[in-house]
Amino acid sequence: MPPITELMPAILSPQARALMTELQSKGLRLVDPSAGLPSRRGGAGPSDHKAVTIDGHTVMVPVHTAPAFDSPFMADAPGSEGLSTLRHGSIPIAQISFPATPRFYARSTADGVPYSHIATLHGRDVLATTVLQTCIRYESRKKTCQFCSIGQSLAAGRTIAHKTPAQLAEVAQAAVELDGVRHMVLTTGTPPTPDRGAAILCDSARAIKAAVNLPIQAQCEPPDDDAWFQRMKDAGIDTLGMHLEAVTPEVRARIMPGKASVPLSRYFSAFEAAVVVFGRGQVSTYILAGLGDTREAILDTSQRLLDLGVYPFVVPFVPISGTPLEGHPAPDPAFMRSVIAPLSEMVAAAGLRSSDIKAGCGKCGACSSMSAYEAAAA
Ligand code: SF4
Repeated sequence: MPPITELMPAILSPQARALMTELQSKGLRLVDPSAGLPSRRGGAGPSDHKAVTIDGHTVMVPVHTAPAFDSPFMADAPGSEGLSTLRHGSIPIAQISFPATPRFYARSTADGVPYSHIATLHGRDVLATTVLQTCIRYESRKKTCQFCSIGQSLAAGRTIAHKTPAQLAEVAQAAVELDGVRHMVLTTGTPPTPDRGAAILCDSARAIKAAVNLPIQAQCEPPDDDAWFQRMKDAGIDTLGMHLEAVTPEVRARIMPGKASVPLSRYFSAFEAAVVVFGRGQVSTYILAGLGDTREAILDTSQRLLDLGVYPFVVPFVPISGTPLEGHPAPDPAFMRSVIAPLSEMVAAAGLRSSDIKAGCGKCGACSSMSAYEAAAA
């Protein structure tokens, strides 16, 4: 059992929280691009990012995006103790570090697939995988979610199209034993079946839980039938993410024309049914701020979600290379602060806490500075 202080989110100074928000919006230039965990260009998940630890709090910071190339922030090469000086212009402002490459990355399956092509380390202690690296929404330029690059890591040979339950179980066990990962994210592209991937996620979770006791978050679109939520729980899935990404119908239609065919009303009925199964605070959604939704729209939707017991994880949109939105500006740090500061108070008032989530993005928190604000608001 880790010490209690490691289980609680660090309470950061207002300056450190503001710095995180700035870094996530503006990105970071690196004197030594090989420092820490390898960053990926394009692909699913937090691509074009580097995991960076500030005051014990690990966040994902864009390093390969267009805004990052012009960022005022620059990290020196790490010294012998692993610390790197972060500069704003030429002025040193903080000491940061980079999580090390995990040991399980050195392994391969018996048939020669590197473990890192099956799952990757996110943040500091999360194992994450895209079980199905193909998506019905990605097959046509007209329907694809404009921010998504799920096909890029597949095309680049950095991953495999379908990770089998046995492969996932093998890698999860190694990641726990060698690197002490504490929870796992199973996301998926959407298959052309009415369950929207729930069955594949169930098969994966069942195999992982048979091999190792690791809390799991599954992420998918709302399935056709709410009965899937109980099946997912019975398969060993601890928490569920159904990601809105954008909250206003006009923004949804523009940014994700295929996925917007699932109406907001279906997301909300699915949230309600899922909270009955997984519990308050164990169902979450991911909202990308900076794509056109106003501050008010994000906060109003978040309040509606909180009333249902759903955790709204709001992250700054990152323009990933190779996507239709690669030239779209990242959100302004002042806009992000104007959303995240009141949102953190709303989350605390609803009695939800990222640290109470059993697994997944809301618990990891590295793609947003939200949990740092939340710890201060609690
Ligand atoms: S918040 Fe989610 S997507 Fe971001 S690093 Fe953590 S697990 Fe990965």
